[in-house]
Amino acid sequence: MKADVIVVGGGLGGLSCARDLARAGTDVVVLEARARVGGRVEGMAFDDGRVLQMGGELIGTVHHAYRALAAELGLGIVPSFTAEPGEDGYDMLDGTHIGEGWLSEEDTAALARLDAAILEIARNLDPADPWSHPDAARLDHLSVGALLRSLEPTWLAYRLCEASALSAAHGTIERGSVLAWARAAASVGGVLSNDYGQWENLKVEGGSSMLVDALEAAVAGRIRYSAPVASIHVGAPCTVTLVSGEVLHADAVVCALPAGPLRRVGITGLSDARLRSLHRQRAAMASKAVTVLDGPVWRRTGWNGLAVSEHEIGGFWVQGEGALSTLLGPEKQGHIAAAPPGTLTQALIDSLERLCGPVEPQAVIWRHWGTDPYTLGYVAIWEPGDLMGVGPLHGTHEPPFYVAGSDHWAAGYMEGAVRTGRDAACAILGQPRPSLYVE
Ligand SMILES: Cc1cc2nc3c(=O)[nH]c(=O)nc-3n(C[C@H](O)[C@H](O)[C@H](O)COP(=O)(O)OP(=O)(O)OC[C@H]3O[C@@H](n4cnc5c(N)ncnc54)[C@H](O)[C@@H]3O)c2cc1C
Repeated sequence: MKADVIVVGGGLGGLSCARDLARAGTDVVVLEARARVGGRVEGMAFDDGRVLQMGGELIGTVHHAYRALAAELGLGIVPSFTAEPGEDGYDMLDGTHIGEGWLSEEDTAALARLDAAILEIARNLDPADPWSHPDAARLDHLSVGALLRSLEPTWLAYRLCEASALSAAHGTIERGSVLAWARAAASVGGVLSNDYGQWENLKVEGGSSMLVDALEAAVAGRIRYSAPVASIHVGAPCTVTLVSGEVLHADAVVCALPAGPLRRVGITGLSDARLRSLHRQRAAMASKAVTVLDGPVWRRTGWNGLAVSEHEIGGFWVQGEGALSTLLGPEKQGHIAAAPPGTLTQALIDSLERLCGPVEPQAVIWRHWGTDPYTLGYVAIWEPGDLMGVGPLHGTHEPPFYVAGSDHWAAGYMEGAVRTGRDAACAILGQPRPSLYVE
């Protein structure tokens, strides 16, 4: 079989790319390992008919490419958990709080100093080329935790910053690169990713999997499901070999795989430097749980459903009416792997009850992305030194080998998948490339 372009991986990055190529008349084939497309975006139909989002869920005002694509596909955008009434929750080891009353002015001032310091670095940073920053190597090897400690935080401010990071994607602040945090902020015009009011204040009406459904329909007939790729040879033509042994040819290949599965695909014909850079990327391990309840029980205590947690399991936000999402980041994966059956769900319920009183969930549904062979992670993560290690070839194409997917953008997210997917299509078609960074 021979196509103009083979896209390896049918997540948002691969599908966004394939849709644009197909619309331009290109003969494009998407090879997807799973029996479904969407990758890290996955809708799961619950008994009562609602679709729960087990993966990527939220977008924000600063996510221009995603919102533009949703508009093209006729999808509505609605407010997210940030519109919930009530106050934030804090499930700390020595007490659970609703609202910020337990924090002093010194605590919040210390956190504001950290945000200001990172934003100041972001102001002088080109997100497309952070390596050219005069202090790049030092800032990349400096951890966010070390930066915070240098700003003389209060003990509570340090704990809260760490608990927030552990309750989200980043993992511990002691293993987060300052340069990478600043680059993510610079990539959207100087907004830190912990500013939920701009990064996570929106969602697709009906759920993010609706966008995957619309993309799938747009490239119908061009997707090969259950077709895991074993190897790619970059040449003229390019050769793609499936795990089944089938061999396919194309003039160009778009590699739209997450960092972990990409390392398992044999790639030849690419420069050593490009391959080394691809293989140097790291993914954060994570699990997600969705708790289905009889209604917005969180409101009973004036809680808005958003919480950070110092416990092994916990940290919530409102996914929808009667549904709470929980993310369990890299540092909690060891605990999860060692947990006896049932104890994870009980720990989650315990956390919820500390925040809003007795609950009887209809279901607590777990999705362990870190150990899923076709994800092996969650989002790209940048430990101190990683950005310098990956280097300026990050996100670049080496025709006829192109890359797409959120791991190839400064800040990950579904936004990154759409931006890089559409950018790869433009590069193949020889069209002017949209800016991958601030618009
Ligand atoms: C739990 C969780 C919560 C998240 N929350 C958010 C959020 O709220 N907001 C947000 O913006 N982002 C969020 N993200 C991140 C976001 O979902 C991803 O960054 C984005 O969807 C990645 O898209 P992608 O196309 O780059 O990669 P993927 O979606 O991972 O797609 C890659 C595809 O490649 C396939 N594949 C793998 N190996 C092979 C192979 N050998 N051969 C062929 N195919 C292969 C996979 O099956 C997959 O379909 C979340 C992610 C997770 C896991």
